[in-house]
Amino acid sequence: MAEYPLEPFRIKVVEPIRLTTREERQRVLEEAGYNLFAVRSEDILLDFFTDSGTTAMSDDQWSGIMLGDESYAGCRNFFHLKEVQETIFGMPYFVPTHQGRPAENMLMDLYVKPGLVVPNNMHFDSTEGNIIVRGGKAPNLAIDEAWQPTVQHPFKGNMDIVKLRDCIERVGVENVPLILMTVTNNTGAGQPVSMRNIRETKAVADDYAIPFWFDAARYAENAYFIKLREPGYADKTPLEIAQEMFSYADGFVMSSKKDGLVNIGGLFGCRDAALFDQVKVMMILREGFLTYGGLAGRDLEALARGLMEGVQESYLKYRIEQTRYFGERLLEGGVPIVEPVGGHAVYLDMLRFLPHIPQSCFPGVAFVCRLFLDSGVRAVELGSLAFAHTDPDTGEVKYPGLELVRLCLPRRVYTRSHIDYAADAIIQIYKDREQLRGLKLVWEPPIMRHFTARLEPLP
Ligand SMILES: *Cc1c(COP(=O)(O)O)cnc(C)c1O
Repeated sequence: MAEYPLEPFRIKVVEPIRLTTREERQRVLEEAGYNLFAVRSEDILLDFFTDSGTTAMSDDQWSGIMLGDESYAGCRNFFHLKEVQETIFGMPYFVPTHQGRPAENMLMDLYVKPGLVVPNNMHFDSTEGNIIVRGGKAPNLAIDEAWQPTVQHPFKGNMDIVKLRDCIERVGVENVPLILMTVTNNTGAGQPVSMRNIRETKAVADDYAIPFWFDAARYAENAYFIKLREPGYADKTPLEIAQEMFSYADGFVMSSKKDGLVNIGGLFGCRDAALFDQVKVMMILREGFLTYGGLAGRDLEALARGLMEGVQESYLKYRIEQTRYFGERLLEGGVPIVEPVGGHAVYLDMLRFLPHIPQSCFPGVAFVCRLFLDSGVRAVELGSLAFAHTDPDTGEVKYPGLELVRLCLPRRVYTRSHIDYAADAIIQIYKDREQLRGLKLVWEPPIMRHFTARLEPLP
């Protein structure tokens, strides 16, 4: 039997949630064009849509909010955040941003021009979007195991070092302005990257004199997996492991809505003074002055406190074990998931769950709509709706290698009975899976279509 971890906190504030009727949910789905992005959160019972910005903050963070210094420049909360940034990430230069993507946006403005290639273990959707809109290419070079949902591997997020070298040789080093690494690999089911792989990737970057950056949204979960799984790290603290990880990077962009344990915010950090001079200009045009970066002083304080809580071992142990519990409950029910279970979410493998629905008919969307209809639980499709794209040269539609549905765990929000409720609903759908039918697109925007597309069930 799956074991549930002891929560290292008790609950002080509660927020009511409501189960609607099946008829209400049917109407909601139709109005939303079968796209759960268009559903009001009040119509959702349990929201496993994302772990981004959905964290329950601690009493210490909430008291920090009252100490917000709302001065335009140089507020004291910035200096607290600066200290924490130096402790964990150790970058000489950094700015807060209002979330992760403006940091990515600046990074890509600094490095990407039409035709340039930015390798990553796997790009997150907004990272890929930020490269592609600038005419760049965004290859995913994770190890082959990353695309094999049943293969066990302790560090499925790893970069494939041979593929990385081949890519650089093939396109020419002058066309690779930077190497990115996403820790943990969100798109690849929240799988971690080993310290050894970080070191090897850094060595390749050094050989070709290419800057090496982290997309660091879940760096603390990654550090905890290194502690659990990589020889030599069992006695180190997650903070010490994170410090070593960042010692190899030239810079990082981060959505602090994940391991930063806050509801909004991001970070951009680097070692290069000249590069940072360019960032200052972009910041003032887009985010605001360098000491607030699109956030209130109180947000900076909550982030400074949240970052330190996010590397506490008791918290990370609970976090990783809660996710594992969810995955193990599903495995016990026979549901095909990506194994081993990653850090922030359980990913269902739709190619095995709904083999009778072709990728062109969006099996993941069929599943998330059915889950919502049956139970009021919201999950997100990360498959052909999110990632299929049409080759501009051949006009051919390319489907992603993984067809996944993600059930993300907001940090410190849901209890064991919430997880059991969702697991039971998913197991029931698995038993009835042959009843599910695909959907077709009714409307789609030119890029990142899964946010706003509208669909219709096939007859
Ligand atoms: C969330 C996320 C981003 C984007 O951050 P936002 O705060 O949502 O803008 C980028 N990369 C990864 C890996 C993420 O998980």
